[in-house]
Amino acid sequence: MPLSRDDAEARRSQAHAKGLYPAPLNAGRSRNMQANRRTDTKPEVILRKALHHLGYRYRKDLLVKLPETRVRPDIVFTRRKIAVFVDGCFWHACPQHGRQPTTNEWYWSPKLQRNVERDTRVNAALRGAGWTVLRFWEHEPLETALQTIRSALD
Ligand SMILES: [Zn+2]
Repeated sequence: MPLSRDDAEARRSQAHAKGLYPAPLNAGRSRNMQANRRTDTKPEVILRKALHHLGYRYRKDLLVKLPETRVRPDIVFTRRKIAVFVDGCFWHACPQHGRQPTTNEWYWSPKLQRNVERDTRVNAALRGAGWTVLRFWEHEPLETALQTIRSALD
């Protein structure tokens, strides 16, 4: 799904390409989207591969059933009850890249609104059931996500 990029975002991408910023989780995605959509590497896949490479074992696509709701986190450490989500900047309304209602009201569709509300509800339901919830934006550096997960596990 190609998203229109504003100028600031385009400049950030160029800065990323020049190595001025740490590689974000979605680096592989934007690179691959230009080359070949079919080999599109999603941010959560990049994070899973890095964790696996470091020797961590986790479940993916596991349906966690809670009293209030059911949720499928991107990465689950079942024994430690840690749920990891990698949120897309657009669909989860990242404060840096998500479209805010004040600046671009027509972008703020009911779907986006529902996503954000669901994220809040899911976080509360998981935490209420004794889970640790770790959420990362796709723009965050991979190293940051790895460090946060490792300190939650250690
Ligand atoms: Zn973002």
